[in-house]
Amino acid sequence: MSANLTRRRFIRLSVACATCVPLASLTGEATAATNQTLRAQYKYQDSPLDGKNCTSCLEFIPGSSATAPGRCKLIPGDDEISPNGYCTLWNTM
Ligand code: SF4
Repeated sequence: MSANLTRRRFIRLSVACATCVPLASLTGEATAATNQTLRAQYKYQDSPLDGKNCTSCLEFIPGSSATAPGRCKLIPGDDEISPNGYCTLWNTM
C-alpha cells in the first residue's frame, strides 16, 4: 500500500516536471546557444587571427551592437559568435 502511494506520487511529480520545464522555457528569457560541433570543425576561436575576425567576414550577422555576440551564416544554431572571433571559413569575397 505504501509502495503504491509512493509510486503514484512519483508519477504525479514526473508529470508535473515534464509540464513545467517547457513552460519555464517559454516564460524565461531566451538562452544563448552555441554549436560546439561546427565550432570545432571550423576551428572557431573567440579571438582574431592575423587581423582577421568575424566583423570583417561576409558570413557574420552582427548582434545588437558592435561588441555584442552575433551569428554566423555557416554555423547554424549559434548566437554567441564573437565579433572578434575567427574560424577557418573566414571569407571576404
Ligand atoms: S565564417 Fe568564421 S570567421 Fe566568418 S563569421 Fe563565421 S565564424 Fe566568423
